[in-house]
Amino acid sequence: MHDLSLASRRGGKTRVEAARLEAFRAGMRGETLLPGEPGYDQARAVWNAMIDRRPALVARCAGVADVLRCVELAREHELLVAMRGGGHNIAGKAVCDDGLVVDLSRLRDVRVDPGARTARVGPGATLADLDHETQAFGLATPLGINSTTGVAGLTLGGGFGWLTRKLGMTADNLLSADVVTADGQLLHTSERHEPDLLWGIRGGGGNLGIVTSFEFGLHPVGPEVLAGLVVHPFSGARDVMRHWRDVMADAPDDLSCWVVARKAPPLPFLPESWHGREVLLLAMVYAGDPAAGAKATRPLRAYGTPIADVVAPTPYVAFQKAFDPLLQPGARNYWKSHNFSSLPDGAIEAFLGQVPHLPSPHCELFMGNLGGAAGRVPVSATAYPHRDANFVMNVHARWEDRRDDDACTAWARGVFDALAPFATGGVYVNFMSEDEERAGAAYGTNHERLARLKKRYDPTNLFCVNQNVAPASRG
Ligand SMILES: Cc1cc2nc3c(=O)[nH]c(=O)nc-3n(C[C@H](O)[C@H](O)[C@H](O)COP(=O)(O)OP(=O)(O)OC[C@H]3O[C@@H](n4cnc5c(N)ncnc54)[C@H](O)[C@@H]3O)c2cc1C
Repeated sequence: MHDLSLASRRGGKTRVEAARLEAFRAGMRGETLLPGEPGYDQARAVWNAMIDRRPALVARCAGVADVLRCVELAREHELLVAMRGGGHNIAGKAVCDDGLVVDLSRLRDVRVDPGARTARVGPGATLADLDHETQAFGLATPLGINSTTGVAGLTLGGGFGWLTRKLGMTADNLLSADVVTADGQLLHTSERHEPDLLWGIRGGGGNLGIVTSFEFGLHPVGPEVLAGLVVHPFSGARDVMRHWRDVMADAPDDLSCWVVARKAPPLPFLPESWHGREVLLLAMVYAGDPAAGAKATRPLRAYGTPIADVVAPTPYVAFQKAFDPLLQPGARNYWKSHNFSSLPDGAIEAFLGQVPHLPSPHCELFMGNLGGAAGRVPVSATAYPHRDANFVMNVHARWEDRRDDDACTAWARGVFDALAPFATGGVYVNFMSEDEERAGAAYGTNHERLARLKKRYDPTNLFCVNQNVAPASRG
């Protein structure tokens, strides 16, 4: 074995001698991968194919002991370190060029305590892993809408989905965690132990350490919920979207409904003549009793002349996977996102005005509706600050051919600019693309407290491959 040259987080390169590298590899219970070794290319690939980074070393941890070894090596040599959970971060923060990737994706264990209504979750678990285990007991915690996403990154950024209006952000349901900090300690954090650390990982991303175990509170959900899509022709989109906004202003917390504008995919329930044409979809879930859901969803479903209405009692786990076919890994993706506290008619006009210019059949504009329980948490209660984000827009540019890169990214930026006058100025940290420097907007008024915690838990910024919070200079 030769010496290994790696990126230093101070810039430039640093060298790990052959004997040290050999000892590190031999001391790991999980596998380690160097460029060219079998499995290396698979280990460096992430969800977004726009990201093509080549780490010098990938350490696939098999447990906490391996994570501690990685942190020790990284500290010793001031290595650039990335952490990988589900690998879905749009900015590709799970991998870095020439550095060390602490790959946690094999740690997918989920242990549910049905009596206590809690779940202990490994840092490599996907949303599907967690839903699968919790739904065996008719329980759930709020997660996102694509089941292959990692629980780790989603939770650490805040996390929202179909249950968020009813049960809050994913981070609001995080009860405790085990965290390996930059000084190589394993800390347990909860409301009683190291409560500041818990506050910081509820929305502060991977800035404060490597989480090796999450504990979530669970709630009765399903196993069947009333859920599905109502699809409208784009010609009626303006009235439908205004009506949706007005209905959701008074909707019960059990009801979530998001708008998606795109070219109709070839869904089996859509007449073929509509495939590829612009449509407005209402995606809805009623998370309580399906019979009550029928009443609550009626104002949305009875409006206008939809092409299709496939809202029906559905297993919760099935709806959690409903969008997976449209969100497979391996495509090129670029996102731009805004938060809105309200959607005046002008914002709806600006949003819909972009739809006739969709640059690929896979591009979409989605507008999530939050509020409810997530909006009633004080801004200072967790590091996630966007309690005023009643609507979250994600401009999801998605395409296959790299020759379309410029057209698709330009379209997404154009939409972002057109909607900027209506936005709060805040942005969800998990929706920020590679070229964005908006950490201030992402952490908002909680940025300063996070910087003080960063100074306490990671004063040398060992964990910097993220939407980074620099350690406070004072305090
Ligand atoms: C198709 C798709 C759909 C999505 N839908 C939603 C949605 O409905 N709701 C929502 O809220 N978000 C959604 N997201 C965004 C998602 O929350 C982020 O992409 C998130 O970063 C994914 O987490 P991950 O573990 O898969 O990411 P990774 O890329 O593995 O990690 C992202 C970052 O998280 C940090 N991190 C990961 N693991 C750890 C750890 N164990 N300890 C410390 N830090 C860690 C690191 O800083 C890392 O750089 C979606 C993303 C995709 C691609």
